[in-house]
Amino acid sequence: MIIKKTPEEIEKIAAAGEIHARTMQLVAGKVAPGVTTAQLDEAAERFIRSQGAEPSFKGYNGFPGSICASPNSMVVHGIPGSYTLAEGDILSVDIGVTLDGWVADAACTFAVGEVSVEAESLIAVTEASLLASVEQVQNGGRIGDISHAVQSCVEPDGFAVVRTLVGHGVGRSMHEDPQIPNYGPAGRGPKLETGMVLAIEPMVTAGGHAVRIAPDGWSIFTQDGSLAAHFEFTVAVTDDGPRILTPWHQLIGNA
Ligand code: MG
Repeated sequence: MIIKKTPEEIEKIAAAGEIHARTMQLVAGKVAPGVTTAQLDEAAERFIRSQGAEPSFKGYNGFPGSICASPNSMVVHGIPGSYTLAEGDILSVDIGVTLDGWVADAACTFAVGEVSVEAESLIAVTEASLLASVEQVQNGGRIGDISHAVQSCVEPDGFAVVRTLVGHGVGRSMHEDPQIPNYGPAGRGPKLETGMVLAIEPMVTAGGHAVRIAPDGWSIFTQDGSLAAHFEFTVAVTDDGPRILTPWHQLIGNA
């Protein structure tokens, strides 16, 4: 069941999203060679709590971190820890912020220093696919319009969409209906209506689309060891089109 939100409820998610964006800005400023993902996690958690909010991921189904930090061939759900960032790495950071019971969820992939041409291109194309798909968030459209926009942005450049992981509705719960695949035909799937709030999250690899779960039960890697990138916004469907509720792109130079 898709739970639509009132304008007042969307403002509450936007308030969580504002804290979210500033957390992402803080993390962006700390991503550098020699920094551990645990240090990023600690800084993010401290800031989120200082704003009177909570890190949504902490304790979610037992997840130990406040953020997900997924380097290189890790696609998503990386547990922050002793991994030390090195020049040339890419790092996907996913953050959830809960404020007054409302969740904002978004992610960004960062380059650590100078990265390969392939990595740079993967990051740029994945981010472009997010922006292209957000344009499809229109009252009267379909979920498939979002899916198709991602796929048609990514595949011509030789990259692949991860198929077994999807975006989702978001609100009082981090994962609500509908599921939002990052591939498939336009014009299909649930109708988009004003009041829906969606976490749109292209996950893209520089190789094949298959992924595997690590023995820790959380981290998801590309099957073939290729690099992966992940970009995400929480977006509301409004009468005036898409409204990005987690505007990290306005605060950091990545977008
Ligand atoms: Mg997320």
